[in-house]
Amino acid sequence: MKIYNTLTKTKEELKTIEPGKVRMYVCGPTVYNYIHIGNARPMIVFDAFRRFLEYKGYEVYYVSNFTDVDDKIIKRAIEENKTPEEVAEFYIKACREDMKGLNIKEATFSPRATMEMDGIIEMIQTLIDKGYAYVVSDGTVYYETDKFSDYGKLSHKNIEELQAGHRDIKVTGEEKKKSTDFVLWKPKKDGEPYWDSPWCKGRPGWHIECSCMAKAYLGDGIDIHAGGEDLIFPHHENEIAQSEAANGVTFSKYWMHNGFLNINNHKMSKSAGNFFTVREIAEKYDLKVLRFFMLSAHYRSPLNFSDDLMEAAKRGLERIVTAADNLRFLLENAEDRELSDIESENLKKANKYSVKFDEAMSDDANSADAISAIFELVKFANSTADKKSSISYIKELISQIETLCNVLGIEVKSEDEILDEDIEALIMQRQQARKEKNFARADEIRDMLLEKGIILEDTRQGVKWKRA
Ligand code: AMP
Ligand code: ZN
Repeated sequence: MKIYNTLTKTKEELKTIEPGKVRMYVCGPTVYNYIHIGNARPMIVFDAFRRFLEYKGYEVYYVSNFTDVDDKIIKRAIEENKTPEEVAEFYIKACREDMKGLNIKEATFSPRATMEMDGIIEMIQTLIDKGYAYVVSDGTVYYETDKFSDYGKLSHKNIEELQAGHRDIKVTGEEKKKSTDFVLWKPKKDGEPYWDSPWCKGRPGWHIECSCMAKAYLGDGIDIHAGGEDLIFPHHENEIAQSEAANGVTFSKYWMHNGFLNINNHKMSKSAGNFFTVREIAEKYDLKVLRFFMLSAHYRSPLNFSDDLMEAAKRGLERIVTAADNLRFLLENAEDRELSDIESENLKKANKYSVKFDEAMSDDANSADAISAIFELVKFANSTADKKSSISYIKELISQIETLCNVLGIEVKSEDEILDEDIEALIMQRQQARKEKNFARADEIRDMLLEKGIILEDTRQGVKWKRA
C-alpha cells in the first residue's frame, strides 16, 4: 500500500512501526462553532482511509482530538455570556452528532486539550530542560526554533528565509528571540480559563496540545499524522519540532494532508465567512450524499463545492442504492440452485472490479477511482442479473457491492429496510413494556414492526420474528 508523504514529497510504501498495527493521529476541530463542510473533509477522507486499512487487516489506533481551549472559544463565550467550557461542551456534542450523520467511525480516543494539562506541562518542562525552550519575564514559554536543526523539514521551508520575511512584523518589546519561535505556554488574561504551571497561571499554545495528545494515546513515534494542508505550516512543522526534541525519536513516519474544500475556488473557512455548516447541508441532503461527494475526489485535490456537483453525487449514490435494491428484489424470486457456468464466469469478472477498487485505495487512498470501480461493478450487476439468476449469484453480487461501499463508509441499505439488530432492540422494548403492564406501548411496537413487514410470534421459548 502506498501513501503520499508530505515529508518526502513522494508516494511511499506503508511500512508501519509494528507490523499489522497503524497508529494514526488526525487533527480535529477547534470547537467554537458548528463544523463546516471544509472541516468535514479531513474527517471523511481519513475515516475512509482508516476503514480501508481495517479492511486490509490492520489494527488501527485512531486518535482525533478536540481543541477546546482557544482564543476563538473564549471570544465566543464572551459574546454568548457563557463560560468557555460551556461553549466547548456544546460544540463538541454538536460535532459528534454531525460526525454520526456523516457515518464517521468513533475514534479509538478523542482527547480534549483541557483534560491533558499534566502531560502538556510535563512536555514543556522537558523542552526547557533540554534547552529547546525559554521563559520570558511575563511567564510566556517559547520554543526556540534555531535549536531544532530539522526545523522546516515538513513544509520544505528554509528557516533563515522565514525569519527574514517576518522581521518587520516583530512586535516591539516582545521578548521572543526569533520571529519563528512560537508559544508553548502563555499567561492568562482577565477572565480567561487558566491552569497553574511552573511559569505562570496560563494556558498552552495550540501546537503543543497535539504533540502531547499523540504521545499520550499513541506513543512517542506514530505511523501516520494527518490533517488539512493548511496545517502543514506552522502547526505540523511545530508539532515535529516539539515532539522530536522532547522524545528524541521520529514523531510520525508519514504525513498525509487533504486539499481544501473550496467555494468559487476560495478555501471555505469560518474566518472568511464563505462556509456552509454540515447542519445546513443536512437540511437539503442526506449526509450520505455529502460523504459520497467528498470521496468522489482524490483527497489531495482541491474540491470545489457546488449545487451541481452535489446533485451529481446524489444521482451517483442513487444509482448504487437502486442497483442494490433491484438485486434484493430479484433475490426474492431467484432460483435456488447451483451457480451456472456463466454465473461462475461472471463472478470472476465481477471480482475484477473489487480488485480494481483495492488497487485504487492502495494507491494513496484514491477514493475517486475506487468509486469508479464500484460504478463498473454496479453496471455489470445490472446487466447480468435477472429473473433467471440463482440465489447464490445475486447474493454474491449484493455482498460485493455492500462490502466495497462499507469500506468507504457508504451505506447502501434502502431507507425503509429495517436491520435485524433494530428489530431485536424493538422486541426487547416491547417485552419491557409488557413487564411494566404498558400494553398500549407493547401493541404500538407490534404494529410498528408489522408495518415494516415483521411478524412477531409469542412462543414458549420467547418471542420469535420473521419477515412477512
Ligand atoms: P480548524 O477547526 O480550522 O482547526 O480545522 C479542523 C480541520 O479542518 C483541519 O484539519 C483543517 O485543515 C481542516 N479544514 C479547515 N478548513 C478546510 C477546508 N476548507 N478544506 C479542507 N479542510 C479544511
Ligand atoms: Zn493538531
